[in-house]
Amino acid sequence: MVIKTENELLAAFNTAYNTRIADLHASLGIAPGYAQRSGLPLQFEPDELVDAGKDMFDRDQKLTAPALAAWLAMQRSAAQQGVTLLLVSAYRSVDYQTQLIRKKLDSGRTLEDVMQFNAAPGFSEHHTGRAIDIACPDAEPLQQIFENTNAFKWLSANAGGFGFVMTYPRDHRHAISYEPWHWCFNLDQ
Ligand SMILES: [Zn+2]
Repeated sequence: MVIKTENELLAAFNTAYNTRIADLHASLGIAPGYAQRSGLPLQFEPDELVDAGKDMFDRDQKLTAPALAAWLAMQRSAAQQGVTLLLVSAYRSVDYQTQLIRKKLDSGRTLEDVMQFNAAPGFSEHHTGRAIDIACPDAEPLQQIFENTNAFKWLSANAGGFGFVMTYPRDHRHAISYEPWHWCFNLDQ
């Protein structure tokens, strides 16, 4: 038996993952070369996730342990200052992202339209278990109007202190449109 080095194992894993992502893209009709076109980095699912409780729609959510701790601390700190932060969505698997896009295509939307709002499978930060979509009680979730809320103002001033960064600001270079509700915990990398 040949013992492989860590680098060889990593290369084999990356090749298998790239092939899987390419197959999923083909199944959705996404042309090869999405990474180059979108400017988005390939994202990986974590080895371990922990239960992050229910989101605002009563669905079970998961995050990595460090991201969950940071999210809870940030939510608590905001609450102490009278700002309510609600969790909309956290970890999403590559398979879930594929189903989500397929459902939208099946409902008659064009691929071009859907891809403005959803990263292709393998390229969503939600795969990492470190990204969260945040809402507040006074604005409809996942709408750009979130940027006018006190919650957004609070996040803009304070989220960085908890390790959260807004990944898709206005006029960024990625293919995804402006998402003031999407924040990623970046301290545990
Ligand atoms: Zn998001």
